[in-house]
Amino acid sequence: MELIVGGGVVGLSIAWRLSRAGRPVTVVDPAPASGASHAAAGMLAPVSEVSYTEEPLLRLGVASLRRWPSFAAELAADAGLPPGVLSPSNGGSGGPSNGGTGAPSNGGSGAPSYGLDFRADGTLDVAFGADDLAALDELAAFMTKLGLPVERLTGRECRRLEPMLAPSVRGGLLAPGDAWVDPRRVTSALLAALERRGVPVVRARVSRLLRASQGPQEGAVVGVELDEAAGGGAVPAELRADGVVLAAGVWSAELAGVPVRPVKGQIMRLRSAEPLLSRCVRGMVHGTPVYLVPRGDGELVVGATQEEMGFDTRVTAGGVYELLRDARELVPGVTELEVAEVVAGLRPGTPDNLPLIGPSGTPGLTLATGHHRGGVLLAPLTAALLQGEEPELAALCSPARHRPDPASA
Ligand code: FAD
Repeated sequence: MELIVGGGVVGLSIAWRLSRAGRPVTVVDPAPASGASHAAAGMLAPVSEVSYTEEPLLRLGVASLRRWPSFAAELAADAGLPPGVLSPSNGGSGGPSNGGTGAPSNGGSGAPSYGLDFRADGTLDVAFGADDLAALDELAAFMTKLGLPVERLTGRECRRLEPMLAPSVRGGLLAPGDAWVDPRRVTSALLAALERRGVPVVRARVSRLLRASQGPQEGAVVGVELDEAAGGGAVPAELRADGVVLAAGVWSAELAGVPVRPVKGQIMRLRSAEPLLSRCVRGMVHGTPVYLVPRGDGELVVGATQEEMGFDTRVTAGGVYELLRDARELVPGVTELEVAEVVAGLRPGTPDNLPLIGPSGTPGLTLATGHHRGGVLLAPLTAALLQGEEPELAALCSPARHRPDPASA
């Protein structure tokens, strides 16, 4: 049996895909889906999020985005979600199908169901000043060189797509292939799919990794010790396994000393009766990136701060102020919306912003952590890499890159 430590979007996705492949798995997490995955906006936007120094990350993101439609459709089916319909914004007129995961469908039974709220209607990056426009032009040239589909738009064209945009928007860049999903619906669906497949999810905290103390396996990870206090006696003291996959997000560092650090993100959920936007909108305001992600049910997610504050998850007045101030510059109408929630999550950042996926260097222990800003996007690819697919991309994520070179010792 393989043991997955951590039930965020990454750990749950791995467990689900391994189980589908016929492998016996168990997940252990004191509070599944409560970490960064609970805070995440769910943008699947490798193209509009690309930065000049992060080409390897772009390759990973593009490869994972390609997997999302079938991942979502299979997940929706395995979780027993009602059959979906086409996304409302493509109006059923030949646009990309949601593959059974879109919004909304009432399945003939009352309240609408939005499935996973997976939508592939693109991301619009907008610019205000001449400097911003010049930066967009440069970005467009870079993306075109990489063969990524983008469309440069005038301010008027941007507002035609999104009428609620500020009149001061002077231009934009549309990445038509980018998508988004509701991460909370994804983790709920993953938990439902695991339950339907009979995969145990042990609600307990791992206090340490168990290592073989003798024999040919000496030093190898052979299971985990559980925090008994948390389980109140209802959980075993330890779980033995053929292999352990460490997918505990930013908490992976505590258990195996991997180079992952918390990058705090405060994020806000607003609510309106009708969706204010039909696609993700991003922009730079006062030198800070801000994005707005619409959900089919009228929720509008405004994100996110990026703060190096250790394990602090307090929501601050400054964070809320900056999010609203910047969002209002992009879409003035946001101030009319109801504030539904503000939370802070901890992105698991690595020194080079690439995830750590693959053998840890200690027999019996595999890593699947360090997904930083892109764990929702990268979840399908992560699960595939751990099953031996796409070795070239797996090499980019190999944890070996952070191990000291024995030759230099
Ligand atoms: P987590 O979701 O943090 O899950 C880790 C799990 O491990 C938790 O459930 C926790 O309970 C468990 N755990 C911890 N310690 C232990 C232990 N000792 N024993 C057992 N279990 C343990 N990504 C995108 O792709 N698109 C976005 O738009 C996006 N927006 C974001 C916005 C914000 C504000 C933030 C904070 C993040 C965002 N991200 C986004 C990043 C994304 O959320 C993360 O990369 C992703 O959630 C990481 O998933 P994970 O499963 O590795 O970690």
